Amino acid sequence: MIQTTKKILILGSTGSIGTNCLHIVEQMREAFQVVGLATFSRVEKLLEQARLFHPEWVAVSSGQITGSARKTFRDLGVHVFSGAHALEQISLESDYNMMVNAVVGAAGFLPTLHAIGKGADIALANKETLVIGGELVMAQAKKQNVAVLPVDSEHSAIFQSLMGESSETVEQIILTASGGPFRTWSKELLSSVTVEQALKHPNWNMGKKITIDSATMMNKGLEVIEAIRLFHVSVDKIKVVIHPQSVIHSMVAFIDGSVKAQLGVPDMRVPIQLALTYPERKFSRFPRLDFGKYTELTFEEPDLNKFQALALAFEAGRIGGTAPAVLNAANEVAVSLFLNRKIRFDQIPQLVEQAVMKHQVVQNPDKNQLLAADLWARQNVERFI
Ligand code: NAD
Ligand code: MG
Repeated sequence: MIQTTKKILILGSTGSIGTNCLHIVEQMREAFQVVGLATFSRVEKLLEQARLFHPEWVAVSSGQITGSARKTFRDLGVHVFSGAHALEQISLESDYNMMVNAVVGAAGFLPTLHAIGKGADIALANKETLVIGGELVMAQAKKQNVAVLPVDSEHSAIFQSLMGESSETVEQIILTASGGPFRTWSKELLSSVTVEQALKHPNWNMGKKITIDSATMMNKGLEVIEAIRLFHVSVDKIKVVIHPQSVIHSMVAFIDGSVKAQLGVPDMRVPIQLALTYPERKFSRFPRLDFGKYTELTFEEPDLNKFQALALAFEAGRIGGTAPAVLNAANEVAVSLFLNRKIRFDQIPQLVEQAVMKHQVVQNPDKNQLLAADLWARQNVERFI
């Protein structure tokens, strides 16, 4: 079989998903050519990656890049974009046929649209893209015949469970959730949660923002919206089940009563690799699931009264329009306020709720209306403290 090399641009290459992605690429050198790498800062790490993978383009959004680092990139033959628009520039101007979008937050939205505009497939880790403007993104992807391949483990599980099935036969999508570090805590105790406690996830080692989102369960809420967009189903078809062992990554229930699940060790490299090599499934040396180690797989209902963020996301998904974009932006600001010790842990969902309630929803928003809703939330959230 003839194999064509995929020319990939990796946004967020120094992050948790980005570095895992590069490890996979390193094992499959013949299948991929890394043409571009983008990061917010961490220029030393980016230089190291550039020496190993020889991209043609790099982007540094913080703009903080020394003269000597610039010179080193130049000597390596690498073109540097830097500053607030670097991520967009590299997405528009470099030559790639697959984008791995692994930046965190709303910064991933416009680059996704640029990749679609260029007809490049997208391995999408940046769930915020689909929360902000999932309808627009999926419609444009369809128009351009671009594949949006989920990297998020739950969505990869659903994607795999749907293989060979027709969408009319789907009765329910069951998103599993670990429940995070505070699954067994009382609601009252959540006001005393420290940054250190919230940053300790029981099963996954991830970037800070998603780790806090997992602790509030906003992560699962964002994933609910991500799922309705990716798989074109209504919110009412999504169910969240707490499964603390994180072995079943998600499930699909069909109209005949059958349920398909995808299982594996909690290891993001598995869904990343599948998104990269799709439509093929390739050999890996990642640890295998040892059923002897998991004598018990358990399930429980999420407590929506305790984890208000999850309830809010369901609500924003139901409202639609610009509501999810506001939910997402307010959450980003609230998480960063919490990480900077400016608000309590239990204030995160409170701020998000205020923002969603006070926002004037626009239905069927275009790109500019989505960006305006995002900006409105960012500018107003702190007033709701
Ligand atoms: P991270 O914080 O470890 O890494 C984020 C990366 O994005 C870094 O390289 C950072 O430099 C870059 N970045 C951030 N803002 C940027 C900007 N404005 N311009 C350019 N680069 C920027 O985050 P992560 O855990 O790798 O998560 C990345 C995305 O993947 C998030 O959307 C997250 O929700 C999603 N995701 C992560 C995991 C996981 O296991 N880490 C699992 C599922 C989904
Ligand atoms: Mg996930």
